[in-house]
Amino acid sequence: MQQHFLSTLKGIGSLFFILMSFVFNACDKTTEADCPEACANSNLQHVKKVLLIGIDGCRSDALQAANTPNLDQLIANSRYSWTLDRGNTDTWSGAGWSTMLTGVWPAKHGVKDNWYVGKNYGEYPHFLCRVKETSDCFKTASIVHYTAINDEIVAPCNTDELRDYDKDANVTEAVTNYLNDCNMDVIFAHFDGVDHAGHSRGFHPSIPEYIDAIETVDADLKPILDAVYEREANHNEDWLIIVSTDHGGTIEGAHGGEDNNVDVTRVFGIFRTKNTANPGGLRYSPELVDVVPTIFNHLGIPINSTWNLDGVGVAL
Ligand SMILES: [Zn+2]
Repeated sequence: MQQHFLSTLKGIGSLFFILMSFVFNACDKTTEADCPEACANSNLQHVKKVLLIGIDGCRSDALQAANTPNLDQLIANSRYSWTLDRGNTDTWSGAGWSTMLTGVWPAKHGVKDNWYVGKNYGEYPHFLCRVKETSDCFKTASIVHYTAINDEIVAPCNTDELRDYDKDANVTEAVTNYLNDCNMDVIFAHFDGVDHAGHSRGFHPSIPEYIDAIETVDADLKPILDAVYEREANHNEDWLIIVSTDHGGTIEGAHGGEDNNVDVTRVFGIFRTKNTANPGGLRYSPELVDVVPTIFNHLGIPINSTWNLDGVGVAL
């Protein structure tokens, strides 16, 4: 009888523990880095590394109007464009991120909206997957605010670390921790606060809340950029930093369905290495599909013609 009572008590205790750990886990999405395991050739140290930063829904003219000291410092050492072509159609986030991360237009990756119907990532996977295919010794991470990027685009193919958060500040913390605590090689970081401000107040330089959101993300980038600069100074690393976006938007707060509207389709692209040759504005408008080949060129990964990429690397 006593034994039965004890085991019942234990059962209740275990149930309580399971319930509490569920509640605890649901509330505590840690931003601590969980470093990827060493690869077979664990002595291999990469010098060339990549940080791709996506600022969702950020218009070029608003970025130029906002007070962004951290991005300004980056731009001063970059090749950049205020008229990067993100594609005239399929002006949704799902399509835009698919294009940036796979290096091919929607005609190939198949995603034309935010529902991911027709996705063809088996044939055209994201670049982190290609990097890992090339060598398991590249340590990769995708740390995002818009969960669907990881769930739909990144998760189906090999990436070491996938994190998603409901706040930009948490993305900043996690990316900074991965930079400081792990010997990462390639990181994709996505911020969504600017897009949220655009949808609720309007995407336009005259909208104070939209400008505020851009200035907030600029402040969010400071610890990340500082961590990269520290690594370059003290660890003999050369980071390619790219900053771009999936689309712009209208003053009415729209972007999806706004085909051929330059406020939506012409965006910005910032491309910077440790020693960017000839920093300044590019004399042509690069395309969103040029991001992936620029990354492969920096990492020294030969572009395989069977990948059927649509872009060309930006010369840096
Ligand atoms: Zn978007």
